[in-house]
Amino acid sequence: MKTVRDYIRTIPDFPHEGIMFRDVTTLFGDARGFRMAIDQLLHPYAGTPIDKVVGLEARGFILGGAIAHQMSVGFVPIRKKGKLPGKTVEQAYQLEYGEAVMELHDDALQPGEKVLLVDDLLATGGTAEAGIRLIERLGAQVTGCAFVIDLPELGGARRLQNLGMQVHSLCA
Ligand code: 5GP
Repeated sequence: MKTVRDYIRTIPDFPHEGIMFRDVTTLFGDARGFRMAIDQLLHPYAGTPIDKVVGLEARGFILGGAIAHQMSVGFVPIRKKGKLPGKTVEQAYQLEYGEAVMELHDDALQPGEKVLLVDDLLATGGTAEAGIRLIERLGAQVTGCAFVIDLPELGGARRLQNLGMQVHSLCA
């Protein structure tokens, strides 16, 4: 029987030479694979109260939307700077080369709301940490962080666990 990992392909030298890019479009494009991923991402949170799912741009939107629908809760996007139309809170974070900024609408979460943070892949954890900081800035709590892929050698899971986060991923 196929596992989630079997639906993901690795593309060498994308976006630049030496990078082995994990391409999840093949997972999203397969009905069985996509359902398996969503079911497995949801599994650890069965019976756990979650008020909102927050997805990180861009593949976190695809996963997060499906998870939110299944949980019957709302979905909230965290986007790269300049994309959200309303008033936002901002967080800078480190990229491989340089810095980027992500934004969250300042009224998208209420104080005390419990949030599941979702993205496709955890590498250094810098993107997810910026997301956590934005969510916490609005007074909401991150109940868990869910990823399809964790690249453990890059230390992201440890970084998030050191912030007190529960981290779940489906494959390495
Ligand atoms: P981090 O901030 O943890 O170092 O990087 C994670 C972010 O980069 C995620 O938003 C993820 O979508 C993106 N990312 C980095 N490398 C890959 C990759 O090989 N495949 C995919 N699908 N996303 C990646």
